[in-house]
Amino acid sequence: MPELPEVETTLRGISKRILNKQINSFEPRTEKLRWPINKNLKKFLKNKKVCSAERRGKYIILNLSEGHLLIHLGMSGKLRVFNKPTDPKKHEHWDINFTDGWTLRYTDIRKFGALIKIDTKPDQHKLLKNLGPEPLGNSFNGKYLFSVTRKKTRPIKNLIMDANIVTGVGNIYANEALFLAGIRPRKQSQRLSKTNCEDLSQAIRQTLTEAIEAGGTTLKDYTNASEAPGYFKKELRVYDRGNLPCLTCGAKLKLIKQANRQTVYCPVCQS
Ligand SMILES: [Zn+2]
Repeated sequence: MPELPEVETTLRGISKRILNKQINSFEPRTEKLRWPINKNLKKFLKNKKVCSAERRGKYIILNLSEGHLLIHLGMSGKLRVFNKPTDPKKHEHWDINFTDGWTLRYTDIRKFGALIKIDTKPDQHKLLKNLGPEPLGNSFNGKYLFSVTRKKTRPIKNLIMDANIVTGVGNIYANEALFLAGIRPRKQSQRLSKTNCEDLSQAIRQTLTEAIEAGGTTLKDYTNASEAPGYFKKELRVYDRGNLPCLTCGAKLKLIKQANRQTVYCPVCQS
């Protein structure tokens, strides 16, 4: 599943090819992704300019000369840009064609992604308005994390994966950040000390930043916008390494399930 670093990498990859360009046409080849595609979108997008593009959590927002377009990659979505016309293949569900010949194409095998027209301010939209702070933004820090963990008995891993607490920390990066911070994934949130919260907020930032720099991971079938695969997987410290030796101390990493997701931790380095 594309996580925050993949979405950020995708955004950076497509931005230089779509910013300040005028849309010539929109060609949908499906009526529905996760939700139905607005029937007026063809007309709405015609001649609009893409003024800027940004990310909020795992959403990409295209700010147009009038209105906004919200894109979510769902479980398996990919965006890519090209300037040579090619016939769409199966699972390539829509194209936005620009007047200079470039195309933004969306591919999604599982069709859990989204393409939504927004007329109001994007942060007022129902999908975005309750999202917690950005993990790489200034309002996410140890102090914030300490305040939101008080009186919470949920395991800390589940808490940091809750988009209303902090947005965009997916399973891979939650595992990695908890290892870096030396905190057990099942630890009750309210039992984290101020120091734990400081360490964890920094570990989340570090893990996501490293992944973005590495161009996103190649887990499952993700490839980034220019179709060059990312290469972060080899850098993963615990995720997908259950029962293998800890890279720090050599102890056997424990593999458990939490909320139906894979959790791996070191019983020695994390407490
Ligand atoms: Zn260890």
